[in-house]
Amino acid sequence: MNFIEEIVEKDLQEGVNNGRIQTRFPPEPNGYLHIGHVKAICMDFGIAKKYGGVCNLRFDDTNPAKEDTEYVDSIMQDIKWLGFEWGNVYYASDYFQKLWDLAVQFIKDGKAYVDEQTAEEIAAQKGTPTEPGVESPYRNRPVEESLDLFYKMNSGEIPEGKMVLRAKIDMANPNMHFRDPIMYRVITDHPHHRTGTKWKAYPMYDFAHGQSDYFEGVTHSICTLEFVVHRPLYDWFIDQFATTDYRPHQYEFNRLNITYTVMSKRKMLQLVKEGLVAGWDDPRMPTVCGLRRRGYTPESIHSFIDKIGYTKVEGTIDVGLLEHTIREDLKEKAPRVCAIMDPVKLVITNYEGNNEQLTVENIDGVESAGTRQMTFGRELYVERGDFMEDAPKDFYRLTPNGREVRLKGAYIIQCTGCEKDAEGNVTTIYCTYDPNSKSGTEGGNRKVKSTINWVETTTCLDAEARLYDRLFAVEDPSGTEGDFRDLLNPDSLKVVQCKVEGSLKDVKPLDHFQFLKQGYFVVDYDSTPDHLVFNRTASLKDNWKK
Ligand code: ATP
Ligand code: MG
Repeated sequence: MNFIEEIVEKDLQEGVNNGRIQTRFPPEPNGYLHIGHVKAICMDFGIAKKYGGVCNLRFDDTNPAKEDTEYVDSIMQDIKWLGFEWGNVYYASDYFQKLWDLAVQFIKDGKAYVDEQTAEEIAAQKGTPTEPGVESPYRNRPVEESLDLFYKMNSGEIPEGKMVLRAKIDMANPNMHFRDPIMYRVITDHPHHRTGTKWKAYPMYDFAHGQSDYFEGVTHSICTLEFVVHRPLYDWFIDQFATTDYRPHQYEFNRLNITYTVMSKRKMLQLVKEGLVAGWDDPRMPTVCGLRRRGYTPESIHSFIDKIGYTKVEGTIDVGLLEHTIREDLKEKAPRVCAIMDPVKLVITNYEGNNEQLTVENIDGVESAGTRQMTFGRELYVERGDFMEDAPKDFYRLTPNGREVRLKGAYIIQCTGCEKDAEGNVTTIYCTYDPNSKSGTEGGNRKVKSTINWVETTTCLDAEARLYDRLFAVEDPSGTEGDFRDLLNPDSLKVVQCKVEGSLKDVKPLDHFQFLKQGYFVVDYDSTPDHLVFNRTASLKDNWKK
C-alpha cells in the first residue's frame, strides 16, 4: 500500500466526504502521454478503482497556443490501451465562463487587479524567498478601472503581454506563489481547440486547477511534488468562494524520471518537429505510443509502475528496469522464431529429395505455447558469424574440422568446406547431415556442443529489422550541459535486411516474437506482406541487477 492509499483509507474510515472517492487525471493536451504520465494515470485511476470511486479525465486546456485536438484523441487512446476507464470527460475550457465570473467577483471584492507592467517588470518585483517583493504601481487602482480593463483583455483590444489580472494577496508572503499571482493573461493569436475565438483572456493554471477540482467534486487531487508549493494557493483560491465545507485536497508524489531519455513535452515536441525522431510514436520515444510501437505491452508497463512505487523523494529510475520488465513479460509470451541477420548460404550435400515440414515448439518446453511448422531443405541461410574457416579450438560452431552442430529444431550437421568469392568472402558453406538426428525423434536426443539458427532459402522471407537502442548517449540528458539535441545517441537506430522463417508470412502490427539469439521484436505498423518490418523491443541480455 502506498502513502496515498493510506490517506484514502483513513479518509474512508473517518467518513470524510461521506465516503465518496473522486480523482481526476488532468493532462494538458499539448503533447502525447509519456511513461511519466502513466505513473500519474496508474495512481489516479488506480485509487478510484481500488476504493470504488470514480476517476474523470480532465483536459487542462487553458493555453490555446500549445493545445490541439490531435493530442486529446491520442491521450484518450493511450489511456484505453493501458486498460483504464474514466467516468466523465471534462475540459477546463468548460469552466471558462464560471472562472470568468469568479474573477470578476474577485475584482469587485478588491481581491484582484489588472496590472499593465511587462512580464519582466513583474518578475523583477517578485523578491526572493527571504526578501519581500515590491508592490505593483497598479495594485491599488480603482475596482472600476480593473473591471473595465479586464473586459478589454477579453475583447481583443489588449495585445498579448500588455496586461494581466493578478490576485491581490501579499507581496511579502514567504511563499512566493502568494505574491500577487497572475490569474489571467491575454492570448489573441491562437484560436482555442474548443472555444475558438470566443475568449482572449485565459486563466492560469493556479486559478483554473483547484476551481475545476471544486466544480467537479474531486476529493483527492493527486499530482507531482513540484506542486507542493502551489498547494496553499490552491486552498486559498477555493476558500475565497466556496459556500460549503466540502474541499478537494491536493496530494503529491515523486515524478518519474528515467535515464537516457527526456520527458518534457517541450523537448519531445522539438525532437518531433525537427525530425530528430520519426514522430511522437518513434519507438525510441518515452511516449506511450512510442513504447507501444517499440513492443511494450500494457502488462509490462503496469509491472514497471508497480516496481518503482510512489514516494515523496525525487529520483531517477534506471532505464534497465523498464527494459527488464518487458523482457520478463515477453519471455512468457513471445513465440521463438528464426531470423538470420547476416545470412550466408549453407548447402547440405547429402540431403536428397524435397523440402520437409518440421514441427517445432513455439517456446521450448512450454506446451501451452503451441507449435508451428518450419520448412527444412537442402539449402539454408545461417548466420555468417556461425561459420569460421580457420577457427580456434574453442569455436564450437561451423568449421571444417568434423565437429557436429545442431540446426535448431532440426538435424545435426557437419561442415565439410566452403566457397569464396574473389575478395575472399564466404559465399557458400558445405555440410553433410545425419538423417537419424532429427529433433523430436530418438536421434534428436543426441547432444552436441552448439545449436545454430537457420531458415530455408526458398520459403524464407525478406524482412527489415530496425534495431533500436537508447535515444540519448548520456544518462541524464536534461542535467548535462549543452544543447540536449547534441546528446542524442547516434547509434539509436540501425536498419538491417534479414531473412526470417516462412511462418511469419501473415504477421500483424504489434505481434511479438523472440528472434532466437537476437532479441525481442515486434511487427511495425509499416509492415506489409511484401515488406515485413520488425522493431527490436529489447535485446536478450538483461543487465538489470535486482
Ligand atoms: P510537461 O511539463 O512535460 O508539459 P506536465 O507535467 O505539464 O508535463 P501535464 O499534461 O500537465 O504534463 O500532466 C498531467 C499529469 O501528469 C499531472 O498531474 C502531472 O503531475 C503528471 N505527470 C506529468 N509528468 C509526470 C512524471 N514525469 N511523473 C509522474 N507524473 C507526471
Ligand atoms: Mg502541466
